Amino acid sequence: MRVDVLTLFPEMCEGVFGTSILGKAREKGIAKLSAVNFRDFANNKHNSVDDTPYGGGGGMVLKPEPIFAAVEHLLDNLKEENAKPRIILMCPQGQTFDQRIAEELAGEKHLIFICGHYEGYDERIREHLVTDELSIGDYVLTGGELPALTVIDAVVRLQPGALGNESSAVTDSFSTGLLEYPHYTRPAEFRGWKVPDMLLSGHHANIEEWRKEQALKRTLERRPDLLDKVELTPKDLKLLERLKVENKEACGGSCSSEEKASF
Ligand code: SAM
Repeated sequence: MRVDVLTLFPEMCEGVFGTSILGKAREKGIAKLSAVNFRDFANNKHNSVDDTPYGGGGGMVLKPEPIFAAVEHLLDNLKEENAKPRIILMCPQGQTFDQRIAEELAGEKHLIFICGHYEGYDERIREHLVTDELSIGDYVLTGGELPALTVIDAVVRLQPGALGNESSAVTDSFSTGLLEYPHYTRPAEFRGWKVPDMLLSGHHANIEEWRKEQALKRTLERRPDLLDKVELTPKDLKLLERLKVENKEACGGSCSSEEKASF
């Protein structure tokens, strides 16, 4: 997979590209990661990439020319490969990024991210250049670098060979449609707090069942909205009904609104 990030602050990306799973994926040749400064494509003598908005108002707007030129330069270099990259504009107005989108993007050969700054982009970039617009949530950051790096991390860790332990991506929260079950490690008792007996039993089938129940319980209590989207077996549904009854009994008559949402 190849990933290019168009940014005014390539140094923000380089640090992340060289660290942890992304650094290893880069080293192993699983992902080719690069940051391109689109100021290098400015076509004016001051190398300016932004200008005041037509119609007045505060803030500066990113000009279309440098961003179009930077993307076209990348596409020219790929002509022979006949590749069609996804060109992703990072913006708070885009589709909210989630694990499903991460999985979809992980199947692509080439991703180009455009990171904004200042007030925003000239609308023609949105209308005539990009294939996708992504937001990482309903809040506004100073620039698109942290959002783009968030998406890149989530996508690259799904590439075969990127994680030391492949199974950990499979059971991660959201990959299964549920939140992940709780984890414990040694010691078996810490300050009087014990690891659940089931995990020490060595009985793999029962442990799997316990984990499924815990994942359902945790999702019911923290993110009941996810349960509407996940496919559950008749056995899971029965388990869920039991967990709902248990939750109702546990909070008695004085249930908070979060507790009420879980039964
Ligand atoms: N005026 C813009 C608006 O109201 O939509 C916000 C501009 S923001 C200060 C500057 C840049 O940061 C955006 O162009 C985008 O690249 C990035 N950005 C900020 N928040 C983001 C978010 N939640 N998701 C993705 N990108 C974001």
